[in-house]
Amino acid sequence: MHVVYLVVPCYNEEEVLPLTNSKLTEKLEQLISAGKADEKSRILYVDDGSKDKTWELITKFHQECGSVAGLKLAHNAGHQNALLAGLMYAKDHADCAISLDADLQDDIDVIDDFLTHYSEGCEVVYGVRKKRDTDTFFKRFTAESFYKLMQSLGLEIVYNHADYRLMGKNALKALSEFREVNLFLRGIVPLIGFKSAKVYYDRKERAAGESKYPFKKMLQFAIEGITSFSVKPLKIISNLGIVISLLSSLGLLYALISYFTGNAVPGWTAIVCSIWLLGGIQLFCIGIVGEYIGKIYSEVKARPRYIIEKDLN
Ligand code: UDP
Ligand code: MG
Repeated sequence: MHVVYLVVPCYNEEEVLPLTNSKLTEKLEQLISAGKADEKSRILYVDDGSKDKTWELITKFHQECGSVAGLKLAHNAGHQNALLAGLMYAKDHADCAISLDADLQDDIDVIDDFLTHYSEGCEVVYGVRKKRDTDTFFKRFTAESFYKLMQSLGLEIVYNHADYRLMGKNALKALSEFREVNLFLRGIVPLIGFKSAKVYYDRKERAAGESKYPFKKMLQFAIEGITSFSVKPLKIISNLGIVISLLSSLGLLYALISYFTGNAVPGWTAIVCSIWLLGGIQLFCIGIVGEYIGKIYSEVKARPRYIIEKDLN
C-alpha cells in the first residue's frame, strides 16, 4: 500500500486551518480504512513563515493526531518554495505526495481518483479545474489569459491546472534535480515527463480567510513563470529590430523621393532616416546580446538534460 503525504503550504491561515485539518484528517482516515493509503501516510503542513497563529495550530494538530506532521520555514519563502520544501520532505518519507492549498478550494474527494491513477502507473496526476464560476470575472480573466500567454510562449503548461497534483516518488526525485532558484512548479512538472493523467474537479470558494495571492503577487508570479521558462521575449526584440530596419529602408526611399521632388525641409531626410535605421539596428543588436544572455540563462539553470524512467538492469 502507498504511503501518501498530503502537502499543504500555509501562510497566515489561522482562520481556515482548523476546518482544513478536520476535513483532511477525516479524508486520510477514510483513505486508510478503504485500503487506499498506508497507515504511515501523513498530512504535512508547511508553515511558510506565517505571522499569525498558524504554527501554534499545526503543533496542536500534531499533538492531537499522529498522522499530522509539520514543517516550519524560517521566513516567508513564498508559496512555490514552501511547496517544494514539503515535496522534498515527502520524497524521503512517502511513495507519493499530493499538494493542495490550505483553503479547501480544491475538492479533496478527487484524491481517490488521484490514487487510482497512481496505482495504474501514473507518476504525475494533474488536478484540472472544470469551471471557474466561483472566481471573480477579473481573477478568471487574468488567470485564463495567463495560461494562453504561457502556451503561446511555448511553455508546456496544463491549462487550468494550479498546484493541486499528485507526484510519485520518481517524479519527486526528478524534481529534486531541478536546481533553479526561481521556481515555477507548474512549468517544471510537465518537463519532467513520465506517464501522467488529469483529473477534473470543481473549484470551490475559499472556506475562510482571505486570498494570500493579491493582484501584485499574481502578476509577479506570472512574470516569474514567463521569464523562468521562455527566452521568446528576447527573440521578439531581435525580430522587432529586423522589422524596423526593413521598414526604415522603405522610409529611406520615401524620404529620398521627397527630397528629390523638393517636398522636404532641408535636413529632415537625414534626421528621419538615421533615427529609424539606427533604432532598428540598435534593437537588432540588443536582441543578439539577448540571445547570448538567453544561453547563459539556460546554462545557469543547470536543469537536468534527461530523466531516466526505467532501467532494465
Ligand atoms: N501561500 C504560501 N505562501 C505565500 C502565499 C500563499 O504558502 O507566500 C499558500 C496559502 O497559504 C495557500 C496557498 O499558498 O495554502 C494558495 O494561496 P491562496 O489560496 O491564497 O491563493 P488563491 O487561491 O487566492 O490564488
Ligand atoms: Mg486559494
